[in-house]
Amino acid sequence: MNFDLTDEQKAWKKSVHEFTARVIKPKAREVDETEEFNWDAVRQGGSIGLLGMNIPEEYGGSNMDMISSVLALEEIGWGCGATALSFTAHNGLGTAPITLYGTEALKKKWLPLVAEGKNKLGSLALTEPDAGSDIQGGVTTTAEKQGNEWVINGAKMWCTNASIAEYIITLVRTDPKGGSKSLSMILVPTDAQGVTISPPEKKMGLRGSPVHGITYNNVRVPLENLVGIEGRGLHQTLATLDGGRVIIGAISLGLAQAALEAAVEYAHERKAFGQPIGEFQAIQFKLANMATEIELARNLLYKAAWLKDQNRPYSKEAAMAKLYASEMAERVCYEAIQIHGGNGYSRSYHVERMYRDARLMTIGEGTSEILRLVIGRHVYAKK
Ligand SMILES: Cc1cc2nc3c(=O)[nH]c(=O)nc-3n(C[C@H](O)[C@H](O)[C@H](O)COP(=O)(O)OP(=O)(O)OC[C@H]3O[C@@H](n4cnc5c(N)ncnc54)[C@H](O)[C@@H]3O)c2cc1C
Repeated sequence: MNFDLTDEQKAWKKSVHEFTARVIKPKAREVDETEEFNWDAVRQGGSIGLLGMNIPEEYGGSNMDMISSVLALEEIGWGCGATALSFTAHNGLGTAPITLYGTEALKKKWLPLVAEGKNKLGSLALTEPDAGSDIQGGVTTTAEKQGNEWVINGAKMWCTNASIAEYIITLVRTDPKGGSKSLSMILVPTDAQGVTISPPEKKMGLRGSPVHGITYNNVRVPLENLVGIEGRGLHQTLATLDGGRVIIGAISLGLAQAALEAAVEYAHERKAFGQPIGEFQAIQFKLANMATEIELARNLLYKAAWLKDQNRPYSKEAAMAKLYASEMAERVCYEAIQIHGGNGYSRSYHVERMYRDARLMTIGEGTSEILRLVIGRHVYAKK
C-alpha cells in the first residue's frame, strides 16, 4: 500500500479539527456531568457534512470515502467521546443501512430528514436484553406480515440515540423457523404507536450519548419500511458492522490522542524533585510507548479504511484495527492518568473522563473476544 492522505482529506481533517475544538471539545465536561446531549454539535455539524457522511449528495448528504469518515470521527473522538458515539451511531449505524440497502422511496423520505442536522438523528437496534454477540441465534423481536403492514413485538437494549432519533432501524425475526436467513431490518419511526423508549441508561462513561431500552408492542409499520431484502438482515448487519468497527477504532484513536496531549502538557507543568516530571526518563518512556501505540493504531485504521475505499475485502483488517485501537486507547488513557498522579483521578482534569469513555470501545460493535474470533477464523482458514 502506497499511502498518503489526499489534499482534500487533509483539508477535511483540519476543518473537522477546528470545528471540534470550537463546538465539541469545550463542552465535553459539561455533557459528561449533565448527561445532556450536545445538540449544538448536530445543528452546526450538519452544515459541514458531519451528519451525512454515508448519505449520497442527492439525498442531502456529503457521501464521503471511508478514510474521510475515519478522520472525522478521530477528530470528534479527540473532542468528546460521547458526542462521537452519537455521531457514529447516526452515520454508520442509523443511515448506512438505508443508503446501502434501502429502496428509493425510503431514501427519499428519511435520509434528507436526518442529513442536515435540523431534525433528530438515526439509530440502529440490534442488541436485546438476552442477545448481544449472538444476534443470529438470540434475537427474539418478531415482525409478522398482516395485510400491508409489519406487526412488530419484542424488546431491544442499548440503542444509542433512540430518544434523539427520528427512527430506529430494528433487527427483527421475520421467519419463526430461525436460521441465518430469518432476520430482517425494518425502519420504525420513533413516534409509531406501541414504541416505548426507556429513560437513558446510567452509564460509566459516554454519558452525553443517550442509550436506551425499547419495547415494541404490536407496532405497525408499512411493508415498504423493510430495509433491504427480507431474510438478509444478518448479512446486512455484519456488513454494516465492518464499517462501524473501523469508526469505533477511530473514536478510540481520538480519545487516546487527546489523553496523550493532556499527559504531555501536564508532564511539562508538574514539577517534582525540582524539575518537570517530563524530564524523568520513566515519564518520557511512558509518553514514547503511548505515541508509538497511537501511531500503530492509526496505521491499522487508515489501512482498513483504504481497503474499503478500494472495494477490497476488509473484514479481517477492520476487526484487527478496532481490536488494537480500542485496547490501545484504554492503555494510553491509563498511563495518562498515571502521569497526572492524584490529579488524574480527579474530575477537575479530563483524563479520567477519557478513560471512562474509552472503556466502551472494547465492547460496542463487536467485543474484543468476538473480534478475536473473526480474526482467528481468517488466520486459521486453509488457503
Ligand atoms: C454505550 C453502549 C452503546 C451501545 N449502542 C448500541 C446500539 O446503538 N445498537 C445496538 O444494537 N447495540 C448497542 N450496544 C450493544 C453492544 O453492541 C453490545 O453490548 C455488544 O455487542 C455485546 O453484547 P452483550 O452486551 O449482549 O454481551 P454478550 O454477548 O452477552 O457477551 C458477554 C461476554 O461474553 C463474551 N462472549 C460472548 N460470546 C462469546 C464467544 N462466542 N466467545 C468468546 N466470548 C464470548 C463477550 O465477548 C463478552 O465479554 C451498545 C452498548 C453500549 C454499552
